[in-house]
Amino acid sequence: HTWGFGLAGELRQATARDPGRVALIDEQGSLTYAELLDRSSRLAAALPVQPRDRVGLLCRNSAEMVVALIGIATRGADPVLINTGLSGPQLADVVRDQSLAVLIHDDEFPAPPGVRAFPTASGALAAAAGVTEPPVRPGRTIVLTSGTTGAPKGAQRPTPGGFRPLCSIIDRIPLHAGVRMHIAGPLFHTWAYAGLQMALALRATLVLRRRFDPAQTLETVARHDCSALIAVPVMLQQIMEQPYRPVPLRVVAVSGSALPGGLAGRFMDRYGDILYNLYGSTEASWASIATPADMRAAPGTAGRPPYGTKVVALGEDGRPAPTGTTGRLFVGNEMLFEGYTNGAAQERRDGLLAIGDVGHLDRAGRVFVDGRQDDMIVSGGENVFPAEVENLLADLPQVLEVAVVGVADDKYGQRLAAYVVLREGAALTTDDVRDHVRRHRARFSVPRDVVFLPELPRNATGKVLKRSLPQP
Ligand code: ATP
Repeated sequence: HTWGFGLAGELRQATARDPGRVALIDEQGSLTYAELLDRSSRLAAALPVQPRDRVGLLCRNSAEMVVALIGIATRGADPVLINTGLSGPQLADVVRDQSLAVLIHDDEFPAPPGVRAFPTASGALAAAAGVTEPPVRPGRTIVLTSGTTGAPKGAQRPTPGGFRPLCSIIDRIPLHAGVRMHIAGPLFHTWAYAGLQMALALRATLVLRRRFDPAQTLETVARHDCSALIAVPVMLQQIMEQPYRPVPLRVVAVSGSALPGGLAGRFMDRYGDILYNLYGSTEASWASIATPADMRAAPGTAGRPPYGTKVVALGEDGRPAPTGTTGRLFVGNEMLFEGYTNGAAQERRDGLLAIGDVGHLDRAGRVFVDGRQDDMIVSGGENVFPAEVENLLADLPQVLEVAVVGVADDKYGQRLAAYVVLREGAALTTDDVRDHVRRHRARFSVPRDVVFLPELPRNATGKVLKRSLPQP
């Protein structure tokens, strides 16, 4: 297997071996590997760009999106994956900041001014006859961070296609060649994009739907006999709200935000020990993988680093923190990103990248993510990680979802505020919420404010947009 040609190279290899296999299924129909190669090569030939130009993609999951993505890569241009949840002004910023030469977009997302735009549905890019040769230098995919902690930044992913990332997880996650896989998370996010890379490397049949709907997801995997599902944790939570139905799944792999230990346990009790939790970021790729056995043995863990990856928790003195002690998490592997397109720095030490989280390792080398460094609340001089209190409250049967943030406080510097969404028909008072925390945690972890909301503001990957929560 060669790597280095990215998606375009992966697709050529898969097609050479299995041209008639179905590569993609979406609401519109299906494409074989040979058809996907033909369509993406035509698009590459028609695309009015030069190698290394940047081409924005603003699309929901569909076969068209994959055709465009591979077409751009085939041309040697750099695809820029744009979060479909961005506002008009944010989109205009992306066009400018990323110097987009061309934008390919779904009709439902109007193109911002200042860029040559092609709707995915127009067919204008599919008309060309000539078939492009594989690129001399493959394009480098740029993934935009979602901007939960600031303006979206463009992170340049290294070129290797699906095989190298696959190698590092395949010993932990039982994915096999020819697997039928449903990617429910948005392809513009690193995690789902990695799923696409893996799908090509495995000559998989990939099933895509434009929007996530928990009942539809169960229906889709059953109808298309999918044995693997790629999702984000909040999707699992919504699937658990659905009545049980038998599914052919053997692997459910989630990443993108914290997977509460309680949710993981409930999911495995219902669907079996098929759940895998990957911890990582756009910048660091994956840092650790929790197998069902890891999560059974140590609920809440993000698992162990895969082959070729190192994770350390560094204390304030810059030395590795003792086992069980919280420090800043640093990650090293071959798939670290190459930098932000705007040149912004991210801290590195001895070749390891600061992932922006704090956490600890246990004696078995399992990683626990205590929370984002920026989310840490300092109340009366004590450090509190929202996730700790969130997980505790999420175990209450009345609670559907919960977010905890720090708000300014005259006396303590910061105090905790809990935002709680109740299950339909459930009742809970502010005192119930506080008492539950008080019974299990120190006084400084008890939320002073409790706000009941109908739902939490979330981004497209299910991360709670904490900055969008109302003041208590
Ligand atoms: P931004 O950095 O702007 O918020 P983003 O949310 O898109 O952008 P990602 O790279 O997708 O950034 O998110 C990475 C972060 O998500 C990690 O640093 C960690 O905080 C959290 N995360 C991802 N997977 C897990 C996991 N399995 N367990 C715990 N936390 C996770």
